[in-house]
Amino acid sequence: MRYHSTRSDTRGSDAPRVGLSAALAAGLAPDGGLYVPEALPRLTLTPGSTLASTAAALLAPFFAEDPLSEHLHDICHEALNIPAPLCSLSTPDDWVLELFHGPTAAFKDFGARFLAACLARLGGDARHILVATSGDTGAAVGAAFFGRPGFRVTILYPDGGVSPRQAHALGSFGGNVRALRVQGRFDDCQRLVKAALNDPALRELGLTSANSISLGRLLPQMAYWAHAALEHHAAGGERLNLVVPTGNLGNALAAILAREVGAPVGEVVLATNANRTLPDYFAGQEYTPRPSVPTVANAMDVGAPSNFERLAWLYRGRAGELPGAFRARAVEDREILDTVRRRFALGELHCPHTAAAVSVLEELRAGGASGDWAVAATAHPAKFEAVLEAVVGTVPVPPVLEEMLARPASAEALSAEYPAFAAWLRANA
Ligand SMILES: *Cc1c(COP(=O)(O)O)cnc(C)c1O
Repeated sequence: MRYHSTRSDTRGSDAPRVGLSAALAAGLAPDGGLYVPEALPRLTLTPGSTLASTAAALLAPFFAEDPLSEHLHDICHEALNIPAPLCSLSTPDDWVLELFHGPTAAFKDFGARFLAACLARLGGDARHILVATSGDTGAAVGAAFFGRPGFRVTILYPDGGVSPRQAHALGSFGGNVRALRVQGRFDDCQRLVKAALNDPALRELGLTSANSISLGRLLPQMAYWAHAALEHHAAGGERLNLVVPTGNLGNALAAILAREVGAPVGEVVLATNANRTLPDYFAGQEYTPRPSVPTVANAMDVGAPSNFERLAWLYRGRAGELPGAFRARAVEDREILDTVRRRFALGELHCPHTAAAVSVLEELRAGGASGDWAVAATAHPAKFEAVLEAVVGTVPVPPVLEEMLARPASAEALSAEYPAFAAWLRANA
């Protein structure tokens, strides 16, 4: 399998194509686009006995002809040994895919661990991974690369823009993982990372990224959707429809790709917070990226979803179909908190991101949606105790988070101006 940029003309002979290893090592394509496979395979899938074995079968065509393919089995078993149970909700035929049982209690662990397992097998020069985070990615990447020889991680997060427990987690690693609290928003963090990656003066620092645009995160996310849908289909013969809490569109895109390659996934509906770029687009407006607004579901505070470019690529040639191809709903903070409260009374506890999806599912059911539906639970509620405690009282903390919160944490302050970041990178090379 070869990969090319979303921005290259795929019919042109000059479109540079690279193997999986090169695409993983680079993160972003040289023209600023995102790497996509030159063709999507159609697979006849059966549920594996574990997520790791489903993943190894599903991803084999994506690893074909790359040196990493001989390690695919080990990569899947090392990175994806995280439970991802599909549990029933208290309302009939409604399910929740719990993706928060990894070391940092958010779904980002699947992608970060898989990317780390791949990059660790690539060899080559030392790498300095830059990661801009709106909350959960940074901790997942920090945990996945912590203590790995040849790697160093710098996390940039918006000061005051993540939950107190998320902030603690981001600063709790030490060693080869450092945290910078940026005096700005998530968009500023992303801008700083992009500027550093594109700065010729910093080329010798071996900088690379681990943001949600990385193929190494998208591929394993396809695997848990496929695994859940295959098991569900095997048990009851029903396709699984999905509501996905959405920010940069990485998780939802993975679900859509899983369906494209043959997993029994039905409709995929997007749930956002008050950042309405995608709901507005799928309601028929022009695609208009905009600055993000802060919400109680902060890991989805994204105004310019980076994976939209991959969705547009998937619908290339039938671009006219894209605006009508998906339903997307924005859920305001008040409704998110109200959903947390109402579902708590039913014996469920959801993080604010998951609650946005539950709210959308309730709306779909009220509108007559039939069949089996699952929401993704993207983070453990205990990461958002500051938001949730006012609504539901004390939130029990799982052991992984307890341990992380017990460690000391520190983060350096950084201005949102690029020269300050470039100077910091040089001083800390
Ligand atoms: C990252 C994140 C999201 C959004 O996922 P995308 O892949 O960016 O759409 C939703 N919920 C939580 C808890 C997250 O950490």
